[in-house]
Amino acid sequence: MYILGEEELKAVEQTFKTGNLDRYVDGENSVTAKFEREFAHKMGSSNSLAVSSGTAALICGLVGMGVGPGDEVIIPGYTYAATALAVLAVGAIPVITEIDASMGIDPIDIQRKISVRTKAVIPVHMCGLPCNMSAIMDIAKNSNIQVLEDAAQACGGSYGGQRLGSIGHAGIFSFNHYKIISCGEGGALITNDNILFQNALLHHDGGCIHEAEGNRPDIQIPTFAGWNFRLTEILSAILRVQLKRLDDILASLRDEKRVLTERLSDVHEGVRPVISNDSKGDCGTAFFLQFESEKQANLFAQYSEQQKIDVWFPDYSGHVYSDWEPLFEKRGAHHPARDAFCIAQHVPDYTRDMCPNTTSILKRTVGISTDVNRDDRELDVLSSDIKGIIRKVF
Ligand SMILES: *Cc1c(COP(=O)(O)O)cnc(C)c1O
Repeated sequence: MYILGEEELKAVEQTFKTGNLDRYVDGENSVTAKFEREFAHKMGSSNSLAVSSGTAALICGLVGMGVGPGDEVIIPGYTYAATALAVLAVGAIPVITEIDASMGIDPIDIQRKISVRTKAVIPVHMCGLPCNMSAIMDIAKNSNIQVLEDAAQACGGSYGGQRLGSIGHAGIFSFNHYKIISCGEGGALITNDNILFQNALLHHDGGCIHEAEGNRPDIQIPTFAGWNFRLTEILSAILRVQLKRLDDILASLRDEKRVLTERLSDVHEGVRPVISNDSKGDCGTAFFLQFESEKQANLFAQYSEQQKIDVWFPDYSGHVYSDWEPLFEKRGAHHPARDAFCIAQHVPDYTRDMCPNTTSILKRTVGISTDVNRDDRELDVLSSDIKGIIRKVF
Protein backbone atom coordinates (compact mmCIF):
# COMPACT_ATOMS: atom_id res chain seq x y z
CA MET A 1 0.00 0.00 0.00
CA TYR A 2 1.71 3.19 -1.13
CA ILE A 3 -0.78 5.77 0.12
CA LEU A 4 -3.92 5.28 2.20
CA GLY A 5 -5.53 8.40 3.59
CA GLU A 6 -8.58 10.29 4.78
CA GLU A 7 -10.18 10.25 1.33
CA GLU A 8 -10.40 6.47 1.34
CA LEU A 9 -11.86 6.55 4.86
CA LYS A 10 -14.49 9.07 3.75
CA ALA A 11 -15.41 6.98 0.71
CA VAL A 12 -15.75 3.88 2.86
CA GLU A 13 -17.95 5.75 5.32
CA GLN A 14 -20.20 7.06 2.56
CA THR A 15 -20.65 3.61 1.09
CA PHE A 16 -21.17 2.08 4.51
CA LYS A 17 -23.96 4.54 5.20
CA THR A 18 -25.89 3.52 2.09
CA GLY A 19 -26.37 0.08 3.64
CA ASN A 20 -25.64 -1.56 0.26
CA LEU A 21 -22.46 -3.58 0.15
CA ASP A 22 -23.45 -5.74 -2.82
CA ARG A 23 -22.43 -4.62 -6.29
CA TYR A 24 -25.79 -5.45 -7.86
CA VAL A 25 -28.23 -3.57 -5.63
CA ASP A 26 -27.62 -0.27 -7.42
CA GLY A 27 -27.05 -1.78 -10.86
CA GLU A 28 -25.06 0.49 -13.15
CA ASN A 29 -24.97 3.14 -10.39
CA SER A 30 -23.17 0.85 -7.96
CA VAL A 31 -19.74 1.94 -6.73
CA THR A 32 -18.26 -1.16 -8.38
CA ALA A 33 -19.83 -0.36 -11.76
CA LYS A 34 -18.50 3.21 -11.47
CA PHE A 35 -15.02 1.92 -10.66
CA GLU A 36 -15.15 -0.46 -13.62
CA ARG A 37 -16.04 2.36 -16.02
CA GLU A 38 -13.36 4.67 -14.62
CA PHE A 39 -10.75 1.92 -14.66
CA ALA A 40 -11.53 0.86 -18.24
CA HIS A 41 -11.27 4.48 -19.33
CA LYS A 42 -7.96 5.05 -17.52
CA MET A 43 -6.46 1.82 -18.91
CA GLY A 44 -7.67 2.48 -22.45
CA SER A 45 -9.91 -0.53 -22.75
CA SER A 46 -13.58 -0.93 -23.60
CA ASN A 47 -14.46 -3.41 -20.82
CA SER A 48 -13.32 -3.86 -17.25
CA LEU A 49 -14.40 -6.40 -14.67
CA ALA A 50 -13.61 -5.83 -10.99
CA VAL A 51 -12.96 -9.09 -9.10
CA SER A 52 -11.82 -10.22 -5.68
CA SER A 53 -8.12 -10.80 -6.51
CA GLY A 54 -5.49 -10.75 -9.23
CA THR A 55 -5.60 -14.55 -9.24
CA ALA A 56 -9.36 -14.43 -9.85
CA ALA A 57 -8.74 -11.97 -12.71
CA LEU A 58 -6.21 -14.36 -14.27
CA ILE A 59 -8.67 -17.26 -13.99
CA CYS A 60 -11.47 -15.16 -15.52
CA GLY A 61 -9.13 -14.09 -18.35
CA LEU A 62 -8.20 -17.69 -19.14
CA VAL A 63 -11.85 -18.75 -18.96
CA GLY A 64 -12.69 -15.85 -21.26
CA MET A 65 -10.13 -17.13 -23.76
CA GLY A 66 -11.65 -20.60 -23.64
CA VAL A 67 -8.50 -22.14 -22.15
CA GLY A 68 -9.12 -25.54 -20.55
CA PRO A 69 -7.92 -29.12 -20.07
CA GLY A 70 -5.21 -30.26 -22.47
CA ASP A 71 -4.26 -26.70 -23.43
CA GLU A 72 -0.85 -25.28 -22.70
CA VAL A 73 -0.24 -21.75 -21.48
CA ILE A 74 3.24 -20.25 -21.68
CA ILE A 75 4.34 -18.29 -18.62
CA PRO A 76 7.70 -16.91 -17.45
CA GLY A 77 9.83 -18.64 -14.80
CA TYR A 78 9.95 -15.34 -12.93
CA THR A 79 6.50 -14.33 -11.70
CA TYR A 80 4.42 -14.76 -8.60
CA ALA A 81 3.14 -18.35 -8.28
CA ALA A 82 -0.45 -17.18 -8.90
CA THR A 83 0.26 -16.97 -12.64
CA ALA A 84 1.01 -20.71 -12.75
CA LEU A 85 -1.76 -21.62 -10.32
CA ALA A 86 -4.41 -19.80 -12.36
CA VAL A 87 -3.44 -21.89 -15.41
CA LEU A 88 -3.84 -25.08 -13.34
CA ALA A 89 -7.13 -23.79 -11.93
CA VAL A 90 -8.71 -23.88 -15.39
CA GLY A 91 -7.27 -27.35 -15.98
CA ALA A 92 -4.51 -26.26 -18.36
CA ILE A 93 -0.76 -26.92 -18.28
CA PRO A 94 1.72 -24.13 -17.50
CA VAL A 95 4.80 -24.22 -19.73
CA ILE A 96 7.66 -22.39 -18.09
CA THR A 97 9.78 -20.04 -20.17
CA GLU A 98 12.99 -18.10 -19.64
CA ILE A 99 13.16 -14.38 -18.90
CA ASP A 100 15.76 -12.17 -20.55
CA ALA A 101 17.97 -9.42 -19.10
CA SER A 102 14.98 -7.03 -19.06
CA MET A 103 13.40 -9.32 -16.40
CA GLY A 104 10.47 -9.94 -18.76
CA ILE A 105 9.55 -13.16 -20.59
CA ASP A 106 12.05 -13.99 -23.34
CA PRO A 107 10.33 -13.84 -26.77
CA ILE A 108 12.90 -16.22 -28.28
CA ASP A 109 12.09 -18.85 -25.68
CA ILE A 110 8.32 -18.31 -26.17
CA GLN A 111 8.82 -19.20 -29.83
CA ARG A 112 10.76 -22.31 -28.80
CA LYS A 113 8.10 -23.46 -26.31
CA ILE A 114 5.07 -23.10 -28.59
CA SER A 115 3.46 -26.45 -29.42
CA VAL A 116 0.26 -27.53 -31.17
CA ARG A 117 -1.35 -27.43 -27.72
CA THR A 118 -0.42 -23.82 -26.90
CA LYS A 119 -3.50 -21.68 -26.45
CA ALA A 120 -2.13 -18.59 -24.72
CA VAL A 121 0.91 -16.80 -23.37
CA ILE A 122 0.98 -14.71 -20.19
CA PRO A 123 3.67 -12.02 -20.30
CA VAL A 124 4.15 -10.70 -16.76
CA HIS A 125 5.27 -7.11 -16.23
CA MET A 126 7.18 -7.76 -13.02
CA CYS A 127 7.89 -4.83 -10.72
CA GLY A 128 6.33 -2.51 -13.28
CA LEU A 129 8.89 -3.40 -15.98
CA PRO A 130 7.18 -3.73 -19.37
CA CYS A 131 7.75 -6.95 -21.33
CA ASN A 132 8.83 -6.78 -24.96
CA MET A 133 5.22 -6.53 -26.15
CA SER A 134 5.88 -5.89 -29.84
CA ALA A 135 7.87 -9.13 -30.19
CA ILE A 136 5.31 -11.03 -28.10
CA MET A 137 2.31 -9.76 -30.10
CA ASP A 138 4.07 -10.66 -33.37
CA ILE A 139 4.74 -14.22 -32.20
CA ALA A 140 1.20 -14.58 -30.88
CA LYS A 141 -0.28 -13.40 -34.17
CA ASN A 142 1.86 -15.71 -36.26
CA SER A 143 1.14 -18.72 -34.04
CA ASN A 144 -2.51 -17.86 -33.48
CA ILE A 145 -2.31 -17.81 -29.69
CA GLN A 146 -3.89 -15.38 -27.25
CA VAL A 147 -2.04 -12.95 -25.01
CA LEU A 148 -3.13 -12.37 -21.41
CA GLU A 149 -0.98 -9.65 -19.86
CA ASP A 150 -0.33 -10.08 -16.15
CA ALA A 151 -0.01 -6.45 -15.08
CA ALA A 152 -0.65 -7.29 -11.41
CA GLN A 153 2.49 -5.33 -10.51
CA ALA A 154 2.28 -2.76 -13.30
CA CYS A 155 -0.93 -0.78 -13.00
CA GLY A 156 -0.62 2.42 -15.03
CA GLY A 157 2.59 1.43 -16.82
CA SER A 158 2.82 1.49 -20.59
CA TYR A 159 4.66 0.10 -23.59
CA GLY A 160 4.98 2.08 -26.81
CA GLY A 161 2.46 4.59 -25.45
CA GLN A 162 -0.22 1.97 -24.73
CA ARG A 163 -1.17 1.03 -21.19
CA LEU A 164 0.10 -2.31 -19.95
CA GLY A 165 -2.81 -4.74 -19.88
CA SER A 166 -4.47 -3.12 -22.91
CA ILE A 167 -2.06 -4.44 -25.55
CA GLY A 168 -2.83 -8.17 -25.40
CA HIS A 169 -6.25 -9.79 -25.91
CA ALA A 170 -6.84 -9.19 -22.19
CA GLY A 171 -4.92 -7.89 -19.19
CA ILE A 172 -5.18 -8.34 -15.45
CA PHE A 173 -4.33 -6.32 -12.35
CA SER A 174 -4.06 -7.07 -8.65
CA PHE A 175 -5.05 -4.63 -5.93
CA ASN A 176 -3.68 -6.63 -3.03
CA HIS A 177 -1.85 -4.85 -0.23
CA TYR A 178 1.53 -4.84 -2.01
CA LYS A 179 0.46 -3.47 -5.38
CA ILE A 180 0.68 0.07 -6.82
CA ILE A 181 -2.94 0.85 -6.03
CA SER A 182 -4.72 -1.31 -3.50
CA CYS A 183 -7.86 -2.05 -1.54
CA GLY A 184 -6.27 -4.83 0.54
CA GLU A 185 -7.46 -7.64 -1.74
CA GLY A 186 -8.90 -7.13 -5.21
CA GLY A 187 -8.25 -7.38 -8.92
CA ALA A 188 -9.49 -6.45 -12.37
CA LEU A 189 -9.61 -7.75 -15.91
CA ILE A 190 -9.64 -5.52 -18.99
CA THR A 191 -10.33 -6.49 -22.60
CA ASN A 192 -11.67 -5.07 -25.85
CA ASP A 193 -13.07 -8.48 -26.76
CA ASN A 194 -16.77 -8.50 -25.83
CA ILE A 195 -17.19 -12.28 -25.95
CA LEU A 196 -14.08 -12.85 -23.83
CA PHE A 197 -15.50 -10.27 -21.43
CA GLN A 198 -18.90 -11.93 -21.21
CA ASN A 199 -17.37 -15.33 -20.48
CA ALA A 200 -15.24 -13.77 -17.74
CA LEU A 201 -18.31 -11.97 -16.39
CA LEU A 202 -20.32 -15.19 -16.20
CA HIS A 203 -17.45 -17.03 -14.53
CA HIS A 204 -16.91 -14.34 -11.89
CA ASP A 205 -20.47 -14.49 -10.68
CA GLY A 206 -21.67 -18.08 -10.55
CA GLY A 207 -23.11 -17.94 -14.05
CA CYS A 208 -24.51 -14.46 -13.56
CA ILE A 209 -27.69 -15.18 -11.71
CA HIS A 210 -27.77 -11.44 -11.02
CA GLU A 211 -27.51 -10.60 -14.70
CA ALA A 212 -30.40 -12.96 -15.36
CA GLU A 213 -32.44 -10.78 -13.02
CA GLY A 214 -31.98 -7.90 -15.39
CA ASN A 215 -28.93 -6.05 -14.18
CA ARG A 216 -26.97 -6.78 -17.32
CA PRO A 217 -29.32 -7.65 -20.14
CA ASP A 218 -26.55 -7.62 -22.75
CA ILE A 219 -25.15 -11.17 -22.34
CA GLN A 220 -25.08 -12.85 -25.77
CA ILE A 221 -23.54 -16.21 -24.80
CA PRO A 222 -25.05 -19.31 -23.15
CA THR A 223 -24.60 -19.46 -19.40
CA PHE A 224 -22.43 -21.98 -17.54
CA ALA A 225 -21.57 -22.70 -13.92
CA GLY A 226 -19.06 -20.18 -12.64
CA TRP A 227 -17.53 -19.15 -9.33
CA ASN A 228 -17.92 -16.18 -7.03
CA PHE A 229 -15.17 -13.63 -7.52
CA ARG A 230 -17.34 -10.55 -6.89
CA LEU A 231 -15.85 -7.42 -5.34
CA THR A 232 -17.70 -5.60 -2.57
CA GLU A 233 -18.84 -1.98 -2.71
CA ILE A 234 -16.55 -1.00 0.19
CA LEU A 235 -13.45 -2.21 -1.66
CA SER A 236 -14.58 -0.53 -4.87
CA ALA A 237 -15.01 2.71 -2.94
CA ILE A 238 -11.38 2.51 -1.83
CA LEU A 239 -10.27 1.70 -5.38
CA ARG A 240 -12.04 4.74 -6.86
CA VAL A 241 -9.95 6.96 -4.59
CA GLN A 242 -6.78 4.95 -5.23
CA LEU A 243 -7.26 5.29 -8.99
CA LYS A 244 -7.25 9.09 -8.59
CA ARG A 245 -3.90 8.78 -6.82
CA LEU A 246 -2.34 6.57 -9.50
CA ASP A 247 -0.70 9.32 -11.59
CA ASP A 248 0.90 10.96 -8.56
CA ILE A 249 2.17 7.64 -7.19
CA LEU A 250 3.71 6.73 -10.54
CA ALA A 251 5.26 10.18 -11.00
CA SER A 252 6.92 9.93 -7.62
CA LEU A 253 8.21 6.36 -8.13
CA ARG A 254 9.49 7.19 -11.61
CA ASP A 255 11.26 10.34 -10.42
CA GLU A 256 13.10 8.39 -7.80
CA LYS A 257 14.04 5.61 -10.19
CA ARG A 258 15.30 8.14 -12.72
CA VAL A 259 17.59 9.72 -10.12
CA LEU A 260 18.94 6.32 -9.00
CA THR A 261 19.50 5.31 -12.63
CA GLU A 262 21.35 8.54 -13.44
CA ARG A 263 23.58 8.32 -10.41
CA LEU A 264 24.33 4.60 -10.45
CA SER A 265 24.69 3.78 -14.15
CA ASP A 266 28.43 4.20 -14.53
CA VAL A 267 29.95 3.37 -11.18
CA HIS A 268 31.65 0.20 -12.42
CA GLU A 269 31.51 -1.75 -15.66
CA GLY A 270 30.70 -4.97 -13.79
CA VAL A 271 27.25 -3.74 -12.79
CA ARG A 272 24.48 -1.86 -14.56
CA PRO A 273 20.84 -0.99 -13.98
CA VAL A 274 18.39 -3.35 -15.70
CA ILE A 275 17.59 -1.94 -19.11
CA SER A 276 13.83 -1.57 -19.56
CA ASN A 277 11.94 -2.46 -22.76
CA ASP A 278 10.29 0.95 -22.36
CA SER A 279 11.89 3.21 -19.79
CA LYS A 280 9.13 5.82 -20.12
CA GLY A 281 6.43 3.24 -19.49
CA ASP A 282 8.22 1.55 -16.60
CA CYS A 283 6.26 2.07 -13.35
CA GLY A 284 9.44 2.70 -11.36
CA THR A 285 8.46 0.53 -8.40
CA ALA A 286 11.90 -1.03 -8.16
CA PHE A 287 15.42 -0.11 -9.19
CA PHE A 288 17.45 -3.16 -10.21
CA LEU A 289 21.22 -3.52 -10.36
CA GLN A 290 22.46 -6.41 -12.51
CA PHE A 291 25.90 -7.80 -11.69
CA GLU A 292 28.14 -9.92 -13.91
CA SER A 293 28.45 -12.63 -11.28
CA GLU A 294 26.42 -14.11 -8.48
CA LYS A 295 29.32 -13.59 -6.12
CA GLN A 296 29.36 -9.82 -6.72
CA ALA A 297 25.60 -9.64 -6.21
CA ASN A 298 25.89 -11.55 -2.94
CA LEU A 299 28.67 -9.29 -1.72
CA PHE A 300 26.60 -6.25 -2.62
CA ALA A 301 23.61 -7.61 -0.68
CA GLN A 302 25.82 -8.51 2.27
CA TYR A 303 27.46 -5.06 2.48
CA SER A 304 24.05 -3.39 2.05
CA GLU A 305 22.65 -5.38 4.93
CA GLN A 306 25.60 -4.38 7.10
CA GLN A 307 24.79 -0.74 6.33
CA LYS A 308 21.08 -1.35 7.00
CA ILE A 309 20.10 -0.64 3.41
CA ASP A 310 17.09 -2.65 2.36
CA VAL A 311 17.92 -4.58 -0.82
CA TRP A 312 16.41 -7.84 -2.08
CA PHE A 313 16.83 -10.58 -4.63
CA PRO A 314 13.85 -10.85 -7.00
CA ASP A 315 13.43 -14.59 -6.44
CA TYR A 316 12.05 -14.24 -2.89
CA SER A 317 9.10 -16.29 -1.65
CA GLY A 318 7.24 -17.87 -4.54
CA HIS A 319 8.42 -15.52 -7.29
CA VAL A 320 10.59 -18.08 -9.11
CA TYR A 321 9.44 -21.31 -10.78
CA SER A 322 11.78 -23.52 -8.73
CA ASP A 323 9.62 -22.69 -5.67
CA TRP A 324 6.34 -23.86 -7.22
CA GLU A 325 5.95 -27.15 -5.42
CA PRO A 326 2.58 -28.22 -6.95
CA LEU A 327 4.32 -28.32 -10.37
CA PHE A 328 7.16 -30.56 -9.28
CA GLU A 329 4.76 -32.79 -7.36
CA LYS A 330 2.42 -32.76 -10.42
CA ARG A 331 -0.52 -32.06 -8.15
CA GLY A 332 -2.71 -29.63 -10.09
CA ALA A 333 -5.90 -29.85 -8.03
CA HIS A 334 -7.51 -31.43 -5.00
CA HIS A 335 -9.03 -34.26 -7.05
CA PRO A 336 -7.46 -36.30 -9.89
CA ALA A 337 -10.47 -35.87 -12.17
CA ARG A 338 -10.00 -32.07 -11.97
CA ASP A 339 -6.20 -32.22 -12.02
CA ALA A 340 -4.67 -30.73 -15.19
CA PHE A 341 -1.69 -33.08 -14.87
CA CYS A 342 -3.97 -36.15 -14.80
CA ILE A 343 -6.21 -34.90 -17.62
CA ALA A 344 -3.53 -33.81 -20.13
CA GLN A 345 -2.08 -36.28 -22.58
CA HIS A 346 1.22 -34.47 -22.60
CA VAL A 347 2.84 -33.11 -19.44
CA PRO A 348 6.24 -31.41 -19.58
CA ASP A 349 9.13 -32.47 -17.38
CA TYR A 350 9.49 -29.84 -14.71
CA THR A 351 12.96 -29.66 -13.20
CA ARG A 352 14.41 -27.07 -10.88
CA ASP A 353 17.12 -26.22 -13.41
CA MET A 354 14.97 -26.10 -16.55
CA CYS A 355 15.37 -22.32 -16.98
CA PRO A 356 19.07 -21.70 -16.28
CA ASN A 357 19.10 -18.16 -17.69
CA THR A 358 16.25 -17.16 -15.40
CA THR A 359 18.00 -18.63 -12.36
CA SER A 360 21.25 -16.90 -13.25
CA ILE A 361 19.61 -13.50 -13.91
CA LEU A 362 17.64 -13.62 -10.65
CA LYS A 363 20.76 -14.48 -8.66
CA ARG A 364 22.78 -11.67 -10.26
CA THR A 365 20.12 -8.98 -9.90
CA VAL A 366 19.47 -6.99 -6.74
CA GLY A 367 16.39 -4.86 -6.21
CA ILE A 368 16.00 -1.62 -4.30
CA SER A 369 12.42 -0.48 -3.77
CA THR A 370 11.49 3.08 -4.59
CA ASP A 371 9.44 4.82 -1.95
CA VAL A 372 6.88 7.62 -2.29
CA ASN A 373 7.78 8.87 1.19
CA ARG A 374 11.54 9.19 0.68
CA ASP A 375 12.64 12.84 0.43
CA ASP A 376 15.47 14.29 -1.69
CA ARG A 377 17.96 14.24 1.14
CA GLU A 378 17.26 10.59 1.92
CA LEU A 379 17.60 9.78 -1.75
CA ASP A 380 21.00 11.56 -1.85
CA VAL A 381 22.20 9.51 1.10
CA LEU A 382 20.85 6.27 -0.37
CA SER A 383 22.45 6.78 -3.78
CA SER A 384 25.82 7.75 -2.37
CA ASP A 385 25.74 4.80 0.06
CA ILE A 386 24.98 2.43 -2.81
CA LYS A 387 27.75 3.95 -4.88
CA GLY A 388 30.15 3.30 -2.01
CA ILE A 389 28.98 -0.29 -1.66
CA ILE A 390 29.44 -0.95 -5.40
CA ARG A 391 33.01 0.36 -5.17
CA LYS A 392 33.63 -1.92 -2.21
CA VAL A 393 32.35 -4.95 -4.17
CA PHE A 394 34.83 -4.45 -7.01
C1 LIG B 1 0.13 -10.28 -6.92
C2 LIG B 1 0.27 -10.99 -8.18
C3 LIG B 1 -0.73 -11.85 -8.68
C4 LIG B 1 -1.91 -12.28 -7.89
O1 LIG B 1 -2.64 -11.28 -7.33
P1 LIG B 1 -3.52 -11.56 -6.01
O2 LIG B 1 -4.37 -10.34 -5.94
O3 LIG B 1 -2.59 -11.69 -4.86
O4 LIG B 1 -4.31 -12.79 -6.27
C5 LIG B 1 -0.56 -12.40 -9.94
N1 LIG B 1 0.54 -12.15 -10.67
C6 LIG B 1 1.52 -11.36 -10.21
C7 LIG B 1 2.70 -11.12 -11.07
C8 LIG B 1 1.44 -10.80 -8.94
O5 LIG B 1 2.45 -10.04 -8.50
